[in-house]
Amino acid sequence: MIFTHSGIVSTFQFFIAKSIFMEAKTLHEYTLNYPLLHEIIQTKPVMWLNPMQKSMKDLSTLPLSVLDMEEASKRWKKFESFLQNTFPELQETHGRITSPLKRISTMKRHLNEENTPFIEGDLLLKCDNLLAVAGSVKARGGFYEVLQYAEDLALKHELLKKEESYEVFGSETFRNFFSQFEIGVGSTGNLGLSIGIMSASLGFRVTVYMSADAREWKKKLLRGYGVTVVENPGDFGAAVEEGRRKTQANPKGYFVDDENSKTLFLGYATAAYELRQQLEEQGVLVDEQNPLFVYLPCGVGGAPGGITFGLKQLFGDAVHCFFVEPTHAPSVLIGLLTETLDRYCTQDFGIPLHTEADGLATGRPSAFASAISQYLISGVYTLNDESFFKLLYELNHSESIFVEPSAAAGLMGPQKILSTDYLLKQSIDPANVTHIVWATGGLLVPEEDKKAFIGKGEK
Ligand SMILES: *Cc1c(COP(=O)(O)O)cnc(C)c1O
Repeated sequence: MIFTHSGIVSTFQFFIAKSIFMEAKTLHEYTLNYPLLHEIIQTKPVMWLNPMQKSMKDLSTLPLSVLDMEEASKRWKKFESFLQNTFPELQETHGRITSPLKRISTMKRHLNEENTPFIEGDLLLKCDNLLAVAGSVKARGGFYEVLQYAEDLALKHELLKKEESYEVFGSETFRNFFSQFEIGVGSTGNLGLSIGIMSASLGFRVTVYMSADAREWKKKLLRGYGVTVVENPGDFGAAVEEGRRKTQANPKGYFVDDENSKTLFLGYATAAYELRQQLEEQGVLVDEQNPLFVYLPCGVGGAPGGITFGLKQLFGDAVHCFFVEPTHAPSVLIGLLTETLDRYCTQDFGIPLHTEADGLATGRPSAFASAISQYLISGVYTLNDESFFKLLYELNHSESIFVEPSAAAGLMGPQKILSTDYLLKQSIDPANVTHIVWATGGLLVPEEDKKAFIGKGEK
């Protein structure tokens, strides 16, 4: 074996020395077949366009359909009265979990001054950084999964009468009933917040298995809700493993499996209805000549995958979705690029899982989400931690909007894509594109941490 690139040699030596997971021969074959892997392994920022993407008319066999989305949307509706009664923050929206869609022209001007190519189309921010109660995009998937589980139990045990208002989910009877069941989840932080808060609010016993990178304030906040927090010394994968094992040992235990959940995925997907309505209200025309480009921060791929699935159902080929991952946690990118989906984790390729974008610090992708995203998404790009903080600072400076590091990732999207031949190949006029950056979290970050993040980005 001859290696011309010193970085690859050292990666190989690392593998031979440790002889873990993947054989050197296998790794060599992957890097030969997928040259981009060289750069990914060296944790360089990369841009990948998806050769497997299919037009919606050529897609027949997805495990979910628009009917599942409609059902999910109806389930959300039924729970609105319960949500409104339970969380004062949801009074104003009458129990709906929604976030604003905001034009960020000053940020666009700033990006155009700093970088090329020039962004001509509109730049909008989908502000899930402001999602009430859980403070991140996880409110969509996580809340939905807990609500569906609660509904399943109530129906199965004939507690819920037909046509009865779901306000009863807040009653003492229901709380007492749910207290015999246990919900568990593994998390780097945000999923734990959403599952923990919603489960505890319904009366479940709930345990969140936090990875070592989870922030202290999130643990404290959860304990305040009566959630049991178990601190796992390992990474996200290790926390998930412990959570899965311990929760499933309880016959009345239910594990929310971020690496494989169809229900989380559907919860995220319903965001598409909300976005469609907002685009209509704001007079944004969307068709194949006037497409939407959407940039989504990606961890296991459930949130961005679900949102992409939802948008594709509503807008078809007029929407183009791009994921963004940290250079030190490119798990979905590796799975899609090598067509191995969830077979490997990033550590198998010698990439240490190390990023301050904690919502994205996941080594292994969701099997369920990746199997769908492989045909729907247009591409993936990666950014290093420095870029996350820089973008976080610039957004705060130009628009007075605070997002957490993970959530700033999409802001680099328009220029990343405009600098490829993607638009040319699809005959898209750059002036007609509406760019939507999905800001995924930030509301609950304590003031002190906010200041520290902004300060770091300014440097
Ligand atoms: C979880 C999370 C994401 C990504 O969601 P996945 O389902 O893990 O891909 C993005 N941003 C933030 C802030 C998150 O917490």
